[in-house]
Amino acid sequence: MVTESSPGVAYRSQTTITEEPSDALVLMCSDRRFQDGYREFLTEHLGLKRWDAIIVPGGGYMLSFAEVLPKQLKLGMRMVKFIMQASQPTRIVLINHEGCKRYLEAFQGQLRKLGFSLPDKQRRDLTALARDMRDAFPHTTVEAYYAALAPDNTLEFERL
Ligand SMILES: [Zn+2]
Repeated sequence: MVTESSPGVAYRSQTTITEEPSDALVLMCSDRRFQDGYREFLTEHLGLKRWDAIIVPGGGYMLSFAEVLPKQLKLGMRMVKFIMQASQPTRIVLINHEGCKRYLEAFQGQLRKLGFSLPDKQRRDLTALARDMRDAFPHTTVEAYYAALAPDNTLEFERL
């Protein structure tokens, strides 16, 4: 009898893998709270069937701070380029969200500064990243979205 701790095949999926093309590369934050909402947005609103994903804390945060985080940027761009070449999606979708813990950690010292708005900072970073992506991949449609929290805990996706 196979127990949970026995080495060997632990589970066989009912799902088969598909060789169908990728509709997009999606770069998004890893926060578990947002995954279901993101998936709904990607399928129901954007109409994506399949996508390659880079899911990291802060999403585009990884690619946004060349001056202070050059190694992170280099690694991130290597991932993006690899996927763009391997899967050749025609769209890049960037998503970040309100209350992002990666951003909160990085900018906690500035949150009380007069005139500083973390949501605005995130929007600006995402917009700048979208511009960089358009330059790097001129034959690709690049879209950036900011997911704001509505009072009932649903997500409002704002196109930037
Ligand atoms: Zn986040």
